[in-house]
Amino acid sequence: MMLTDLPKHWVPEINLLVKELGYTGEVLVSDEGDAVSKIGANVFDVARQLIDSTLVGLKATATIYVAVVADAERSFQACAVELGGDEYCILIWLAAVARTSRALSRLLETPSSVDFFKLNVAAPKIETVPQGQDTFTAYQAISLLPNASLGETGDQFCSHLTSMALEWLVLHELGHIVNGHLAMGGSANDLRYILEENPSASQDENLTGQALEVDADCFANQHCLHRSLNRPNILDDSAAHEADLLAGRLKAYLFSFLSILRSFEHSPFAIETMFHFDHPPGGIRMNYLLAQMLAIENEGKVNFKGVDLAEAAAATTAALERSISQATGINSQGGNFLSVISLSDDAFRKPVLSRWAKIYPELNAVKLTPGKLAPPQYPPA
Ligand SMILES: [Zn+2]
Repeated sequence: MMLTDLPKHWVPEINLLVKELGYTGEVLVSDEGDAVSKIGANVFDVARQLIDSTLVGLKATATIYVAVVADAERSFQACAVELGGDEYCILIWLAAVARTSRALSRLLETPSSVDFFKLNVAAPKIETVPQGQDTFTAYQAISLLPNASLGETGDQFCSHLTSMALEWLVLHELGHIVNGHLAMGGSANDLRYILEENPSASQDENLTGQALEVDADCFANQHCLHRSLNRPNILDDSAAHEADLLAGRLKAYLFSFLSILRSFEHSPFAIETMFHFDHPPGGIRMNYLLAQMLAIENEGKVNFKGVDLAEAAAATTAALERSISQATGINSQGGNFLSVISLSDDAFRKPVLSRWAKIYPELNAVKLTPGKLAPPQYPPA
């Protein structure tokens, strides 16, 4: 089993980078024949194949290695690194995959998810124990519980959702690399990097970070959307009309990527602190990606075969939030989404997309693909 294709001399350098970034993790190198090695090898395989096929499609020629980081603190992270000489590396924390799988299993056993996916789980769990102060800390807490057992079909569906979430994360990192974002990344151990959770004290730097994140999100969403609609899963009903089949796959995809976006968020949304972070608040990221899907539909780039995308998105977000409430015992009353839906364009889109317009020429000059980046929608600022 292979765990990384990173050339040997880079391993200590990456380990030092990880340490300088404040993590107690190391690149998995040798197969110990244990469960950790097995999961690590699987993450490596999935990421490797996905990156290779995506790079071919994009006509990009860079060398991008994959490394899986085992972290004693079970931190949830991912990182894109520029090694120099047209070589890059994507780091995926093993805990990001393990914790996503655990959280998803806890969500899928709730009455909300059982009903939403028509899952055949004998006795949906209704009793919950409060796992934190708010749904964000609580959601993180349930990702540290052991996997819930969902029966054969449920377990298979859970691993389907987990692998889609992992692919989303890998493609998000790939988006940072091929769209030239590392030119604006941080620097440690003489390497340029973009780390998923890396807030700056400077709101101006965070604004640039958020513009890059929106772009990486859109890159991942575009690729994953195509893949997920063509991807069979255990809940596919072969007798169903094509639209119903697609609607089911779409809901599974939405649920998986929304669940991972939600994991990067630590506190309820507050407009005053929105630019204290290098990532847009999860609710805003979700909203933006749903808007991107509607644009993809309008441009006729994907044939949704009559599926009502907006309705599927609204139903999935509601089901996810209800599942989180039921699994954690903490009810947000849907506030996580309602608070961003009413947000004016001036609050988020204008500042972040104006920043995108400002950095656009520099990114276009260093991106790794012949295609154009997403055109600016606002004057640069
Ligand atoms: Zn990112």
